[in-house]
Amino acid sequence: MTLDTFSRPLKDLRISVTDRCNFRCVYCMPKEVFGSDYNYLARSEMLSYEEIVRFVRLLVNLGITKVRITGGEPLLRKDIDHLIKMLALIPDLDLTLTTNGALLTEDKCLALKTAGLQRITISLDSLNNDTFSSLNDVDFSVDEVINGIDNAASAGLTPIKINMVVMRSVNLESIVPMAKYFRDSGHILRFIEYMDVGDSNGWKLDEVVPSSEIVEIIGSQLPIEPIAPNYLGEVASRWQYTDGSGEIGLISSVSQPFCGDCSRLRLSARGELFTCLFASSGYDVRALLRGDTPDEKIVDTVASLWRNRDDRYSELRSEQTQQISRVEMSYIGG
Ligand code: SAM
Ligand code: SF4
Ligand code: SF4
Repeated sequence: MTLDTFSRPLKDLRISVTDRCNFRCVYCMPKEVFGSDYNYLARSEMLSYEEIVRFVRLLVNLGITKVRITGGEPLLRKDIDHLIKMLALIPDLDLTLTTNGALLTEDKCLALKTAGLQRITISLDSLNNDTFSSLNDVDFSVDEVINGIDNAASAGLTPIKINMVVMRSVNLESIVPMAKYFRDSGHILRFIEYMDVGDSNGWKLDEVVPSSEIVEIIGSQLPIEPIAPNYLGEVASRWQYTDGSGEIGLISSVSQPFCGDCSRLRLSARGELFTCLFASSGYDVRALLRGDTPDEKIVDTVASLWRNRDDRYSELRSEQTQQISRVEMSYIGG
C-alpha cells in the first residue's frame, strides 16, 4: 500500500485518453472557450496505448486496483477497444469507462465487452430534449443516448451507472423524471453536484443543488432510504427506493466533500499525473516513459509523488482557493 500524508492509499487511476469531445457541455467545455480555434493536443503529444499500458502495469505495484478510462470523450480515441484489450490482460484490475454515450453503437458496445471492459458509466443530464441540448450545446438528442445505454446493457456492460450533473437554473425539473425513468431499469442513477472544476465554466455556488435538496425532491414523490456504502471511500452515497425498485447515488463534492478517503490519481492524455481533480499543474511522467527511464525509477517517482500528497481542495474550498487556476476537467478526466 502506498499512503499519502493523510494515510490515504493509492487505489484508483483515472486515465484521460483525449482532451477532445463531441459535446460542449456548459459545465465542462463551454463553446466560448472550446471553440474551433482551441489548441487541442496533437496525436504525437498524447500517450500511446503502449505507454499507458506500461504505466498501469507499473502502478499495480503501488496498489492500483481500479482503472477508469475517461476524457474528453474516450470513444473519440481511435480503436479504444485495443487499449481496453491490453489493460484487461493485467490481472485483478477493475476496468471501467465513462462516456457521453453518443458513440455507443451496438458494434462498439460488443467490441468493448469482447475486449474485456467490465462495466460502463454513461452521462445523461435530462430526458427533455430542449434541456439536454441546452446542456450539451450540440443538439444531441436524448433518444440517441438512451439507445447507447440500451446497447451497453444488451452487450452486458453492467451494472451501468448514469451520471447526471444538476444545475439549478437548467435541469432541476429533470431530477424526478430521470429518477422515475431509471428506477426499474437496473441502472444506477447518480446525481452529481455541479463542481468548480477548471477555469472556464463560470461556476457559481447558486447553481449548485446540494444532495440534501435532491434527496428531498425525490423523496417527496418516491420514498427512499439511505443504504451502506459498498466499500470505504466510495464517492457516491447510496440510497434505495423503499419498494425495492432500485438504487440511486449522490456525489456531493461541494456540500459534503469526501477528500478524507480520496484514493484517486489522474493521468492526462499528455501524460501528466494529477493528485487532485482541482490541481493547477501535473507531474510529467511522459518524459520518463519516453526516455529510457527504468521501471523501478518510474515506480519510485510515482510513489514519492503520492507519499507527499496533501490535496483536499473540496474541503478547503473558499473564495481564496477559487482564485488559483485549475486544470480543465476535459483535460484530466472526470
Ligand atoms: N465525456 C465523458 C462523459 O461526459 O461522460 C467522460 C468525461 S466527463 C469529464 C466525466 C464526468 O464528469 C461526466 O459524467 C460529466 O458529467 C462530469 N462533469 C463534467 N464537468 C463537471 C462539473 N463541472 N461538475 C460536475 N461534474 C462534471
Ligand atoms: Fe464532453 Fe464529457 Fe465534458 Fe460533456 S462532460 S463536454 S461530454 S467531456
Ligand atoms: Fe480528491 Fe481533490 Fe476531489 Fe478532494 S478535491 S476528493 S482530494 S480529487
